[in-house]
Amino acid sequence: MLHTSYIEISKSALKHNIKFIKEHLHDNVLLSSVVKGNAYGHGIEQFIPIAEDCGVNHFSVFSADEAQRVKQVLQTNSDIMIMGMLDTDQLEWAISNEISFFVFNFERIENTLKTAKRLNKKARIHIEIETGMNRTGFLKKNINKLLSYITQNLDYLNIEGFCTHFAGAESISNFYRVQKQIKLFKNIKKEMNLPEFSDLKFHAACSAAAIRYPKTQMDMVRIGILQYGFFPTKEVLIDFLSKSKSKNNPLKRIISWKSEVMDVKKIKMGEFIGYGASYFANNNMKIAIVPVGYGHGFSRSLSNRGRVIINGHLVNVVGIVNMNMMSVDVTDLNEVKVGDQVVIIGKQGNFEISVGSFSDYSEQVNYELLTRLPGNLPRIVVE
Ligand SMILES: *Cc1c(COP(=O)(O)O)cnc(C)c1O
Repeated sequence: MLHTSYIEISKSALKHNIKFIKEHLHDNVLLSSVVKGNAYGHGIEQFIPIAEDCGVNHFSVFSADEAQRVKQVLQTNSDIMIMGMLDTDQLEWAISNEISFFVFNFERIENTLKTAKRLNKKARIHIEIETGMNRTGFLKKNINKLLSYITQNLDYLNIEGFCTHFAGAESISNFYRVQKQIKLFKNIKKEMNLPEFSDLKFHAACSAAAIRYPKTQMDMVRIGILQYGFFPTKEVLIDFLSKSKSKNNPLKRIISWKSEVMDVKKIKMGEFIGYGASYFANNNMKIAIVPVGYGHGFSRSLSNRGRVIINGHLVNVVGIVNMNMMSVDVTDLNEVKVGDQVVIIGKQGNFEISVGSFSDYSEQVNYELLTRLPGNLPRIVVE
């Protein structure tokens, strides 16, 4: 391996998480595995095959480039659904490759029809409805117009689903807003009882909604963060634990991030460590240099406060995190030498560094931290 650090993906942890998710789905609810953002940083190429091995056969992405990466590594004929961006050229690619996609405005449905006619191929579409998030989706008042457009063009438009997305089901502060969305979507669902649409899939739930409001599961759920072993927020975890009268987080983190010691050095009391004067040695110290920095996704904001595990001990970052390196305080460790394993995320001995413990700044820190892990770090699948 030519890299200075690598990511491990645990297949058994994924299997465990998928089992947990399926246990919490009603019968016949299809699980779509959300793999946008490079499978939340886990690596599309590594994640898809193991997810298929765990019985997943539907994947959701944001864009055509992600869909193509998924398609290239599929082992079976799993479905791919694009939930976001597609320009006209990309629409053509999606339709020719029988990839389904969200349609959320009239421009897109018109472009879809034109392209499908030109290709003489049916487009597989999911109609997205605006229910209150105010992002993408058809407004309720336009649904009749939309339906008559669709019913006139059923030769080219295969309507596979009707969907919406909630504006923050992971926080109780959005309870009223989300309940309004659920009600509106259910009303629309009732009106859609037309023979042309007899095997439509209705879907709305992300991880938080599927766990917290099980009635939102309908025909399909789009699950991202849970399968990677994280609750969307602490709040959803606590809510789950109290409802299930349990004390332990039932999910397993599947990602670990590891590097190795690059150098060890003694520092005399009274010296500064690293750039500038941000860390002053009050004692004689020993530090280890780790070849991971903000350029590798270890945020500079973790200067003087981040932690890693070396030889089974939790040690602190000292000084500023550099582009490619950081220093950690190993004064109290007896034997630290070049080549010793450094755990940045994961477990070693009795200690574990979770993704969440990286930082408490943002509620959704897991999502952001994971997707910011550079795509070019090697990802290795382990049992
Ligand atoms: C990202 C996303 C999801 C999955 O969200 P999680 O909270 O990770 O489960 C579901 N639906 C849409 C439209 C999304 O963009």
